[in-house]
Amino acid sequence: MSKKCLFCGKQLTDKEKPEHIIPNALGGKLKSQSIICSDCNNKYSYLDKNLCEDLKHFTAILRPKRDNGGVPETDCEVLGKRVSQLSDGSLQSANFEVAKSENKLNIHLQLIETPGTLSEKKNRQKIENFFKNAIKDPIKRKEELEEVYSKINAEAINIQNPIVTIKNSFNQNGTLTLAMLKIAIEFYAWSGFDISWVKDSVNLVVQKKIKESAPWVNYYYPEALQQLNEIYHIVILKGDTTNKLLYAIVSLYGVLNMFVLLNKDYNGLDINESYVFSLQESQRKDIEIDFPIILRQEVNDILSSQYPVDKFESSVGRFLQHFIFSPKEKELSLQEIRKRFFCIPQPFTEQEFNRNVNILISDVLSANPAFKRIYQQDKVLDDIKQSLPEIKTYDSYIKEFQTEQRRRKKLCTIFMEIVNEAVTPSNMHNIEQLKQVISTKLDSYNYDDENIKQCMLSLKKNILALLDNLI
Ligand SMILES: [Zn+2]
Repeated sequence: MSKKCLFCGKQLTDKEKPEHIIPNALGGKLKSQSIICSDCNNKYSYLDKNLCEDLKHFTAILRPKRDNGGVPETDCEVLGKRVSQLSDGSLQSANFEVAKSENKLNIHLQLIETPGTLSEKKNRQKIENFFKNAIKDPIKRKEELEEVYSKINAEAINIQNPIVTIKNSFNQNGTLTLAMLKIAIEFYAWSGFDISWVKDSVNLVVQKKIKESAPWVNYYYPEALQQLNEIYHIVILKGDTTNKLLYAIVSLYGVLNMFVLLNKDYNGLDINESYVFSLQESQRKDIEIDFPIILRQEVNDILSSQYPVDKFESSVGRFLQHFIFSPKEKELSLQEIRKRFFCIPQPFTEQEFNRNVNILISDVLSANPAFKRIYQQDKVLDDIKQSLPEIKTYDSYIKEFQTEQRRRKKLCTIFMEIVNEAVTPSNMHNIEQLKQVISTKLDSYNYDDENIKQCMLSLKKNILALLDNLI
C-alpha cells in the first residue's frame, strides 16, 4: 500500500518534495518524501519559518550546515547600537549623517566592522554607493573616497571584547505549539507507526488551531536533557500503553525544549524511539537517552507549568559554553594558522601581518569541523594574536627555505625590508634617530635559530657602522 499525505490525505508519489522533519535551516538533515505532499510541504512551511525565526540567534552563533544557502543575517546590539551579524559572523553597521553648509557637504560616518571580513566589504560597498549618488564626477569621487578611507584607517577605534546583546523571545509569531506538533507528528509518521493515533494532533495543525493546541504543548527542561555535553537536536517518542499516553519530547539546540502530547487515550504499540542529531558532526548519533516513565499526573503538571525562566537561562549558558575555545583547540588553530602563513610567498610587514592574521584566523575558525565559533570574535582574534609571537620572528619563516644559500639571500631581503621600513621622511636626515629606530625594530624580533640570530646581529652591526660613517 502506497502512502498518503499526513495532512491532506492525497496519494504520495516519488516526486514529492522531501520534507525536513527538523527544519534544514536549523541544520536538520532527516528528510522524507513519504510523509507529506509537495503542496502541504509549502503550505505548512510558515510554521518552520517562524520556528527558525525564534531560534535565529542560536543559529547565527552555531552556523549549522545546511543543504543550501548560507546562514542568514541577524540583528544584535553592540554599545547600544543596532548592528547586523553577517553570514561570516562579523558585526556590521554603517551610519551616514549628511549636513550641508554653504557649498560644502559634511559627512559624518560611523562604522562598525572587523578588518578582512564581510563586514568591511559590505561597509565599503555602502560608502561607495553613497558617494556614487553624492558626487557625479568620477575623478573627484575617487579622490574623496581615498580621503575617506585614509580617515577611516586613521580614526578607527579598536574595541576589544565588545559586549554583544541579543534579544530573544520564543513564540514571536504565536505558532510555536503548532510547529512543535508538526515535528512530533512527522517523526511519528516517519518512524512508521499507525497514524490514526495522531489524527487529533494532525487536525490541530491542519486547522491552524493555535489556542486549542496550547494545552498539548509546553516548555519542558528535564534533567536527562540538561546533562548532555554536546549540542543536539533531539526527538524522543514514547508510546506508553500502561499509562495510555503517546507523547514526544523535542529539543532544539538544547535550548528550546518542549513536551508534546499526541494522544491521552493511547492504546497502540509500546514505543520507545529516540533521534539524536549532533550539530557539531552534522549527523545522527547512536545515543540512548535514559528517560524515566512519565505518569499521567506528571504530564498534567508539565503541560500546566509556567515558563521555566531559570532552566531556560541555564540551558543558554550551556549552549554558549561550547563557543569558548579550549586550550587544545586554540593550539590546533595556531598550528593551522602557522602552516597557512608559510604559504604566503613574500616576507610581510607589520601591517600585512595584522591583516593576514585576521583573515587566516577567520578562515581557520570557519573551516574548523568542530565549528566552535566564537561569539566575541575580536576577543579570540586578540587571544590568538597574543599567542603568536613566533610568527613575528622571521626565522620561523626563513626555516622554510631549505638551503643555506637561499636562506641567507632571504635573510638579506628581510633585513633590508626592516631597514627600509625604518627609514621615514622624518628621520631620513637624522642619523642618530634612524639608528635608534633600526635597532629597536631589529631587536623586536626574536630569533630562535642561533645561526639566524648571529647573521642578523652581524648585519645589524654592519648597518649601524655604515650609518656612523655617514655622520
Ligand atoms: Zn498534502
